[in-house]
This record gives sequence, structure tokens and C-alpha cells, in this order.
Amino acid sequence: VDQPSRRVSPGSPSSLKEANQGRIVEVLRDSGTMTQAEIARVTGLAPSTVSNIVRELSTSGVLAVSPTVSNGRTAQAVRLTTDAGVIVGLDFGHRHLVVGIADPTCASIGEMRVALDEGHRFEESIDEASRILDVLLSEAGIDRSQVAGVGMGLPAPIDSRNGEVGAPSIMPGWIGVDAASVATKRLGLPVLVDNDANLGALAEARWGAGRGAENVAYLKLSDGVGAGLVIAGRVYRGRTGTAGEIGHATMNDYGAVCRCGNRGCLETLISTAAVLGLLEPNHGRNLAVVDVVRLAQNGDAACRRVLMDTGHFIGISVANLCNVFNPDRIVVGGELAQAGELLLESMRHTLSRYGIPAAVQTVEIVLAELGARSHIVGAFALAAQLHREQPPLRPVD
Ligand SMILES: [Zn+2]
Repeated sequence: VDQPSRRVSPGSPSSLKEANQGRIVEVLRDSGTMTQAEIARVTGLAPSTVSNIVRELSTSGVLAVSPTVSNGRTAQAVRLTTDAGVIVGLDFGHRHLVVGIADPTCASIGEMRVALDEGHRFEESIDEASRILDVLLSEAGIDRSQVAGVGMGLPAPIDSRNGEVGAPSIMPGWIGVDAASVATKRLGLPVLVDNDANLGALAEARWGAGRGAENVAYLKLSDGVGAGLVIAGRVYRGRTGTAGEIGHATMNDYGAVCRCGNRGCLETLISTAAVLGLLEPNHGRNLAVVDVVRLAQNGDAACRRVLMDTGHFIGISVANLCNVFNPDRIVVGGELAQAGELLLESMRHTLSRYGIPAAVQTVEIVLAELGARSHIVGAFALAAQLHREQPPLRPVD
């Protein structure tokens, strides 16, 4: 038996309506909540057309409408509901995993952070993420079929040509894996993958401390050290995805052997492991970054010295980065960003001595605003691309 075809000819009233519905969903995805008048202005659609489509899409549950006051007048505020699809973010670290779900505008609906064993394996970690996702979806009353896609951040370069996880990866068991296709298979959902510092850069540039700046470098100072570069609003990855890997810039030819195989990389001097290791003789093994910061603020000489030296070494690298990349703003994120001004003051001091004056006099150095959430929010932004490509919006007749 022939099924009636959903295909419609271009220019027919039905395809025009679908196009207009799609346009309204698109502007709401980018802007969050808008009044009907604003939607009409941004889309160029007639107010009556907007009003009709909003009524239909709210009847079908894709849009929610609530009264608001705009320019002193009562208006209808319109936003997407989760019936328009949700997106999923995964942020993998050396020892942690964050799973989050968000609406199509990247506003978080639920997030969960769990500890992972060091040296965790790729497949098992993805399965763990899948279990957590089920919990979050069921808590929010959302069906898995409503997930439009997954954005996944990994602490490793991702080869832009084939999607393979490159070296040096903080997770050796993951190198050479085509992370996006393996994860797509195991999760049964479309997955995009990117380096976590790139995702942090994207999130901070769009919603955090990088807002309004043209060229932004985001520093991830954690177990791994790297930078994400945003140029004119877009992440710059380079040919094989290693752009911004400042953690492996040589600081000392005869320094400690790094996990990348070289010696004396920046990361060997300033990773959280290096910082805690330096303080072990004074403060023992069970120290965390938050303790170091608290002790330093309370005047502990060793903690202060180590944080200042850390800022100094980062300052040298950032001076080189500024000379080459000449960004408007440096956004400092990752675990060590908790040290705040203790770190930034020392960075700025070194930067002013080591950088080309024209490059470093104008650059602003600020702390990440999204804090520990930078990477998961960037993962949402990545997943939102999948939402754009495959709008789960069912046409309303
Ligand atoms: Zn290295």
C-alpha cells in the first residue's frame, strides 16, 4: 500500500510554512526567549505569520508562551521547550566525567559529575556516560528519542582530518581511537568531538569572560595544560588539531620527562600534579589545589611561592603566545584558576617583561567566568550544531 508522501514541492504553501517554522525555531535557538514582535523583526516575517506559527507550535508543545512586559506593554515571551529536542554534553578529564543535558539554546537542564579511575578505557567510560545520561533524562522526564545529538570534549588533540584522538593524550588508552564514531555506535546518538580547551574557549567566548572580544585565548590549567584559540568567533584548530598546545612548549631542555616524550615542557612545571608534587615535602600527599590556594591566602610561604612561580612560567608561555597570536583577551580556566589574583598578578608581571610591548600592553588577562563548567557548556555548543543539522522539529500541519 502506498503511504502518502511527506515530500512537498518547493514553493507550495506547506513547504513555505515549514521554512517559516524552521526560521522561528532557529532564531529562538540562538537568542533564547523573545517576544513575538522581536521574532517578527529578526526574521522579517509578518507579525500575523509569526503569531499563527507561534500558536500552532505552542499547541504542539514545541514552543512555550508566557506573558511578559516589553517597552511598558504586555507581550508574549516565546521560548523553545524540550519537545524541540535536547542536546547532551560530555566532558571527559583525566579523572572525571561530566554529563549534561541542555535545551537547544544550550541552557542546562541537568548535569552530573563523577570521578573516573585514572587510565580509564574508552568504551567503558562511554558506557558509564550512557548510564548517567539515562538517569539525567529520566529525572527531567525526557525521552532518549528527544536527544538531537551529543558534544564530547576530550583532553587530547583531535585530528581535524579523521577525528582520531591524537597524542599527547592525558588518557593513553584513547590514542588513535576515532572517538566520535565509537561513541556514536555505543550511545546510539550522533556525536561530535573536540578538544576540551577548544570547547572551553568556545563557551567563554560566547557566554563567559571572552564576550565582546574578537580574538580570545582560553588557558586550561589542570592535570593537562593547553589553550583554545578563538579567532573572530571561530575555534582555530590547525591542520591536525594541535593548535594551542602550549603545554608542550619546551621551557627547559634538560627538565623532567613529559608524557609527550619531550623534556621540560611547560606542563611538567605547572600542571596540578607538578604544583602538588612541589608542595608534598611541606604539606604531604593529600593536598588539593583548593587547599594550596587557601594556605597561600593565609600566608603559607611555600604555597605562595609555588603559585607565584607557576604564574611566572605561565607568563613566559603567554608572552610567546601573545607575540605570535596577538589576542585581545586571555581567559584563564582550569583547576589552577582557583588561585585567582595570586596567579594572575605574577603572570601579568612576567608578561610585561617578556612580551612585545605592543602585544602585551593591550591584552586583558581575566579569569574564566563559567569556572569548572566551561568545558561542558562548550560541549553543549558543539552538540547544538547537530541540533541545527537535524532539527527534530516535526512539521505542524
Ligand atoms: Zn610535553
